[in-house]
Amino acid sequence: MSSNPSFPELEPLPSSISEQAGGLLHASHWMGLALHLPLRFEDHATLTAMDSLTVGQKVNLNATVMAKEVQYQPRKQLKVWVQDGDTELLLRWLHFYPGLIQKLEEGTQLLISGQIRQSYGCLEIVHPQIKISRLGQIGESSVSSANQAVQKLEPVYPSTGQLKQAQWRAWMKKLPRACFEDTLTEQQCKAHGLMPLNEALNTLHGEAEPHLLFDLNQRTHPAWTRLKVDELLAQQLLLQVYRTQRTQEKAETLPIGKSNLINAFLRQLPFRLTGAQQRALLEIQQDLAKPYPMQRLLQGDVGSGKTLVAALACLTAVEHGKQAAILAPTEVLAEQHYFKLKPLLDKVNVHSAKLLGNLKKSEKNRVLASLADGSCQVVIGTHALVQEAVAFNRLALVIVDEQHRFGVAQRLELIRKAPPGYLAHQLMMSATPIPRTLAQTYLSDLSVSNLDEKPPGRKPIITKLLSQGKRDQLIQAIELEINQGRQVYWVCPLIEESEKLDLQAAQATYEGLLEALPKHRIGLLHGKQDSKEKQSTMQAFSAGGIDLLVSTTVIEVGVDVGNASLMVIDQAERFGLAQLHQLRGRVGRGENQSVCVLLYGNPLSATAKARLKAMHESDDGFFLAEKDLEIRGPGELLGKRQSGMPMLRYADPMTERTLLQKARTIATEMNPDSAQAQRHIRRWTEETPWWLS
Ligand code: ADP
Ligand code: MG
Repeated sequence: MSSNPSFPELEPLPSSISEQAGGLLHASHWMGLALHLPLRFEDHATLTAMDSLTVGQKVNLNATVMAKEVQYQPRKQLKVWVQDGDTELLLRWLHFYPGLIQKLEEGTQLLISGQIRQSYGCLEIVHPQIKISRLGQIGESSVSSANQAVQKLEPVYPSTGQLKQAQWRAWMKKLPRACFEDTLTEQQCKAHGLMPLNEALNTLHGEAEPHLLFDLNQRTHPAWTRLKVDELLAQQLLLQVYRTQRTQEKAETLPIGKSNLINAFLRQLPFRLTGAQQRALLEIQQDLAKPYPMQRLLQGDVGSGKTLVAALACLTAVEHGKQAAILAPTEVLAEQHYFKLKPLLDKVNVHSAKLLGNLKKSEKNRVLASLADGSCQVVIGTHALVQEAVAFNRLALVIVDEQHRFGVAQRLELIRKAPPGYLAHQLMMSATPIPRTLAQTYLSDLSVSNLDEKPPGRKPIITKLLSQGKRDQLIQAIELEINQGRQVYWVCPLIEESEKLDLQAAQATYEGLLEALPKHRIGLLHGKQDSKEKQSTMQAFSAGGIDLLVSTTVIEVGVDVGNASLMVIDQAERFGLAQLHQLRGRVGRGENQSVCVLLYGNPLSATAKARLKAMHESDDGFFLAEKDLEIRGPGELLGKRQSGMPMLRYADPMTERTLLQKARTIATEMNPDSAQAQRHIRRWTEETPWWLS
């Protein structure tokens, strides 16, 4: 153990360690290794009496080697008989090193761990873990030290098949214990009731006494508390740094006040903005008036009027002589935005264009030229917008629809197409609200505008749960709906892992419905069709030429057919809550009372039941998002890509609010630019803030 207090904890690990453990370590420095904390602890010190063994039991035993034999038939194996008191036990190895045979001399005392099995005429353990606790003849000196080692709890590390626990323990032994600089002062530790860092690390890496087993495995021990608070603190500090860095970047300042264009645009709308839309627009315009890039999320249910707010944001840029770009995740969605927005923009003489992957070359070149010379003011497109060939004259605003479908890098590439030295303002849109608790933890540097008020005159959608056994009843309801001149969606699940089967099922459903409803026009839409076929089916449905559209989940969020009033979701138990809500949002857009039928098969799992129940009870996306968080937990809900933040490994701020509170308080006590804070952040992450990377 080195006592050098200035041990370079952020210095790279020896390549022998970092290469082997690379995939499992979150950072390649010594501190990173120290922060590879055990999954659980095992008690190798509590011994089972040999005369009370039962088959299947996992035990730790003390026993003495009585005899050994290498047997070659029916297969090569090492057999060792051990004894304690009157009881005998067989140890058996099918794979072993020659060295092992030599070690296991008669009279050697062993500490043995493993699971008891019934063998022919006796009990046995196959491939036990053993420790030699007395080397009979070789001398007594090793006894005490070996026994002492056995008294401690043994950490079990997250690992892969190739990396043995013994290897991890050996690496951890190399950690220069008691040398990591505590980034909290003694007073801070005392004030917040936290264990000093080195004490916590030593406890977790195998210096713990057996009676701590429960607290350590439950992760309630103060050693865990210290590490969890440290992890949360790093995250809170990082968010502070992100915020500061963003405010140091430059973006076009678009002062509030000029609004001729917006007023003209609003005058030609057949309705007034909702209160929520007005609030959101004002929040956006206040951000755009600042000299650094906006970082705002506009969230609201399908149909809450996000697209319109996006258009008004674009006009704010255009009003100041700048350009705006709307990035959509799919061609269908980009087409739809363009189809809706172009006529509105035309009326106020704003030039818009679409840029999609499937444009003809000449058409594409024309759009590219108009973006470069500034004559195109608003462009709507897919990933094609991100490509290198796309250059803008004065890009000031980027709007990203369904933001979670894009990686951080793609969005960054687009906001970098602003003039040199500038970044574009960024407005992200999502129809899947992020629960407030989650946003506060992971997204503190993201301002959020909520469209929590629907445009007037919408009738709430009725949601019904129907078991698969009642399909016939459903067919009748569909017929009734179609006879009244309305249209119906029938959505089938398509999960990647079972794509082939799911496609067959969708096809079969389609054929079944053709048979059951011979008088009606039925269409089929799925991802394996070519884009022409998909487009013509979608267009036929939009134009009322198809009564019933059977589809996999390819019909995107935002697809808008006002006359569709019935949505059937087949095998609803297989969809996530957010997805169910999105799908349901495709109906309820017109005058008519809309119904969503969730068709489920039995038996239902507890989580599936919880999801369907939530859907039945509410059609408020914000409420459902909180429910979803309850059901799924934050990890799944918020991938790293979406938050731009490293995910937490040890702390769970949703269930450990007090720890989060502690971390937040400490963060405010620290200066994020101080060497201490920087060191703390780098311990836990090697990430560069994403708009600088
Ligand atoms: P979102 O993008 O949130 O799904 P949209 O902006 O596409 O919602 O709006 C859905 C529909 O509601 C559109 O047909 C739009 O014209 C209409 N709409 C938007 N805002 C209002 C409003 N304030 N009053 C009435 N209708 C509105
Ligand atoms: Mg939309």
